[in-house]
Amino acid sequence: MIPIETRYFRKFFTRLFAFVQRSGRLRQFEYFEEGYLAPIDGTGHFSSGKISCPECCVKKPDSKNPQYYHQLLACCLVKPGKKEVLPLMPEPIIQQVDASKNDCEKTALKRLLSNISREHPHLKLVLNFDDLYSDGPTIKLVKSYGYSFIMVAKDTSHASLYESVDELDKADKVKRYQFTDEKGHKHWFRFVNNVSINKSHKETLVNYLEYVETDPKGKKYVNTWITDIQLTQENVAKVMRGGRAKWKIENETFNTLKTQGYHLEHNYGHGKQHLATNLACLTFTAFLIDQIEQLACRFFQQALEAKKSKKALWHAIRGLFDWFLIDNWEDLFTAIIEGRSASLKHLVVDTT
Ligand SMILES: [Zn+2]
Repeated sequence: MIPIETRYFRKFFTRLFAFVQRSGRLRQFEYFEEGYLAPIDGTGHFSSGKISCPECCVKKPDSKNPQYYHQLLACCLVKPGKKEVLPLMPEPIIQQVDASKNDCEKTALKRLLSNISREHPHLKLVLNFDDLYSDGPTIKLVKSYGYSFIMVAKDTSHASLYESVDELDKADKVKRYQFTDEKGHKHWFRFVNNVSINKSHKETLVNYLEYVETDPKGKKYVNTWITDIQLTQENVAKVMRGGRAKWKIENETFNTLKTQGYHLEHNYGHGKQHLATNLACLTFTAFLIDQIEQLACRFFQQALEAKKSKKALWHAIRGLFDWFLIDNWEDLFTAIIEGRSASLKHLVVDTT
């Protein structure tokens, strides 16, 4: 039996992406002039103390209870206020040939960006990361591909950056801006451009954006980002919304894949070569197809509306496949939209 290399699945993603691009729907994701907003984050899809394969990463390899795991590094195109996300081919975080230690998110990022840049040479991106990535070497890597970035910068990991900003503030070089929106939420910003990220990467200049939102009950949301987008009073709210859209990869991608019927973490079979990773990539492919349908197919949109949740929609689709011969998607979705009694009108009973 010839093993299927995981890279075989890349063409699914590039072809589906090309379809969205050709149909003009990619333009719906435009947000920044600098490029499409694209959060990057890792997620686990397999963990076991017993089952393993040569591609497994291992925690505590020399202990009595080694833990085997697989992860993926994902990148999705998103837009603040837009439900749908468009995942690119995820990068498996797995044991690399000749590697002396476990693969990790940051090593996988090098492969991910190299693949994205090769497959989408003209795609401009604003990559969005959490604090784990926000350092000099990652910024250099991102900029080497011509991409822009927005990264969370916590005070605990950016002491010298915060000191520099405070010094600039004393010299009156840091700007402040605030406004209250129509729902009574107060938005407060403190920002300054061209600050060294830290003492060991003095030449890496970033723009610093601190933000506090206070809702009418006094509850606060606080965050700080660094970015290469030049900050002005006119664009800080837009950059902040871009930074906050990071949750779309955690919530609208990973959570959906784990709780809305895709079963990303389910062990469908671990295999001896690439099976676990290939099944996870197939799950991402199914998710991408559904996202495109949600974006572009009015039958799918109405069926989802009729069923209220994706889980319920998948359940209805499975039920109809059990009982009827399905000639086309239009009939299938119409039967779901019009309800149980309409099934016989649109579909033929499977008598085999
Ligand atoms: Zn494995």
